[in-house]
Amino acid sequence: MGPARGAACRPPPSSPPRPLYEENRGGMRLQLDPSACDGFGFCIGLLGELLVAEEWGFPVVQDANVAPQLESYARQAVKACPRKALRLVPSELEAARRPK
Ligand code: SF4
Repeated sequence: MGPARGAACRPPPSSPPRPLYEENRGGMRLQLDPSACDGFGFCIGLLGELLVAEEWGFPVVQDANVAPQLESYARQAVKACPRKALRLVPSELEAARRPK
């Protein structure tokens, strides 16, 4: 007789419990080039979870880590930006480019 039904789907007893919400490791990060931005704030309406308007209406990236559930919205905002001022980069790529 083999293992109990569903046993293969369970983590081994020695593995630590996973947090319900993991930090965005290996995900995407949102970058904004303020010199290219026209400041009309189109993106803020599309991605208000990560972008906020500063006092003159220009967008500011409030949280650069793009949660997996927001990635499709972030892609839409990047695609819709008329000045190509927004972009999504893999987290590891951005970390590799950061000065140490
Ligand atoms: S859509 Fe692009 S150009 Fe317009 S405010 Fe946002 S980042 Fe700036």
